Amino acid sequence: MTRGRRGKRTKEMINIAGERIDILFDLAEEEARAHNLPRANRYVELARKIWMRYNVRIPARYRRRYCKHCHAYLLPSVSCRVRVSNGKIIYFCENCGDYLRMPLLREKKRDLR
Ligand SMILES: [Zn+2]
Repeated sequence: MTRGRRGKRTKEMINIAGERIDILFDLAEEEARAHNLPRANRYVELARKIWMRYNVRIPARYRRRYCKHCHAYLLPSVSCRVRVSNGKIIYFCENCGDYLRMPLLREKKRDLR
């Protein structure tokens, strides 16, 4: 129990990883708002490296903040276009031209049926 601590992912490390991801997404948003998209995208890349290294799950709130095809940061009217259709939000990525579809009301689940 006392050995093999090195290289282990402690809860603390995972918390730190989560904080860093928050910071990186904040920075990415700032850069995107200033129309520095390559920089915004680099922050997304750094955040992805962290959650891959620590094997943490991508926080749901960030899943719609970047393109899953090219990993570009998505900021409506700056780096993507948003349309709503059939209860889904569609994000058109301006970087790669592909699109993502997200459910409109995630929290409500099946209330609409
Ligand atoms: Zn894309």
